[in-house]
Amino acid sequence: MSPSAKQIDKVFQQVISRNPGEHEFHQAVREVFDSLPTVLSRHPEYVEASILERLCEPERQIIFRIPWTDDAGTVHISRGFRVQYNSALGPYKGGLRFHPSVLLGTVKFLGFEQVFKNALTGLPIGGGKGGSDFDPKDRSDAEIMRFCQSFMTEAYRHLGDRVDVPAGDIGVGRREIGYLFGQYKRIANRYESGVITGKGVTWGGSLLRTEATGYGTVFFAEHMLRAAGTSFDGTTALVSGSGNVAIYAIEKVHELGGTVVGASDSSGSVYDPDGIDLDLLREVKEVSRARISSYAEQRPQAQYLEGTRVWAVAQKSAVDVALPCATQNELDEDDAATLISSGVTAVVEGANMPTTPEAIRRLREADVLFGPGKAANAGGVATSALEMQQNATRDSWSAEYTEQRLSEIMENVHTRCASTAEEYGIPGDYVAGANIAGFTQVADAMLAQGVI
Ligand code: NDP
Repeated sequence: MSPSAKQIDKVFQQVISRNPGEHEFHQAVREVFDSLPTVLSRHPEYVEASILERLCEPERQIIFRIPWTDDAGTVHISRGFRVQYNSALGPYKGGLRFHPSVLLGTVKFLGFEQVFKNALTGLPIGGGKGGSDFDPKDRSDAEIMRFCQSFMTEAYRHLGDRVDVPAGDIGVGRREIGYLFGQYKRIANRYESGVITGKGVTWGGSLLRTEATGYGTVFFAEHMLRAAGTSFDGTTALVSGSGNVAIYAIEKVHELGGTVVGASDSSGSVYDPDGIDLDLLREVKEVSRARISSYAEQRPQAQYLEGTRVWAVAQKSAVDVALPCATQNELDEDDAATLISSGVTAVVEGANMPTTPEAIRRLREADVLFGPGKAANAGGVATSALEMQQNATRDSWSAEYTEQRLSEIMENVHTRCASTAEEYGIPGDYVAGANIAGFTQVADAMLAQGVI
């Protein structure tokens, strides 16, 4: 083991013992650390300034009680989190997740990833993440509103357009952002548009923010395919999930001439050999807020696969590209094997850490192109930063201009990952390229700002 690898291992053991039981956080740290031995050999100043140790300790972690009342008058207590992870490059920036699986370790893993992702966009934003173990499923609008108001009644004191700027994530979309912003405005008594992103376009939101993560993922994937001499045109694809990221990833794949034949939710998947009908999927998921099974009920040629991940569709159809867009660790080694047998040539992550380390290894052994979420899904936060720019200048840009900016940013993220991998002698390794490019930018800023 090289001295750098030994140093990395020592810090990683500290991470495990200081953060017991936080497996997703350990996984996210390990994945970045695995890319760093050569970086530390070239930059001993990072070791001298304990950059790794400092990066594994968030700047601030806030946990708070969220009391709220359901429609029947019963009082519930949820737990709220905001992890203000790293502000070397700008105000903390990252989404809020409302899902019953959310623990402090979940938020820390997402915050850690966010720091490097935000660096990759080249925009002046630090990293943070937050959320709650509140389960929004089957809750009425009034319950969602009361919950969001209670969340913000505590969270507002930690936020600000130059301090910490949240956005959406799983379970937090336009409706929730509206209720959260409304309560912030009421308590703070000022119209501070830049305090939260993902707002409606008529009240400070940016055109394209809703579409940005899904579109950006497909832009990034298209650059990877082009670098390998192909494109989306004529491909067959699978997308997991049917939420915000998934829907707009499907839309962009179709625009680029591909066909998405499978999508999913946490209950099951649909296989639609004619290609997912997006109008119907939107109606089911965004208007009726129903399960994806109801898509198959209304579409005779589609098949519902209860309790099955979407990757199983690769047993029924050849698949060229897979875009995991639902949640962490949703594509494991067996799923990777299924995709490889089906002829997959690229897996690109729209979600955060959806592919397990074993699956990534398996895909790379089979020479499948692999695009990590840290880079591929950066279009969401990049467009959030564009929303902050518009709020700061009290301006609003056209959809065409915003999409052009998003497309340029994703091209730059792709170029940075690819050229960094080349520079370190591992061409085509987008995981290492993303980790090293993001890490060195944050590390240099931390060095310049002293021991804080
Ligand atoms: P949504 O809540 O809009 O959609 C999430 C989708 O994933 C739903 O279809 C949901 O199904 C499914 N899902 C959630 N949890 C699970 C689970 N445990 N098992 C199987 N399926 C699950 O969230 P987003 O689309 O916004 O986020 C998806 C991913 O993209 C997340 O990893 C998020 O962190 C990441 N991301 C999102 C960004 C954004 O701008 N929104 C930006 C960058 C990354 P069901 O409805 O049944 O729960």
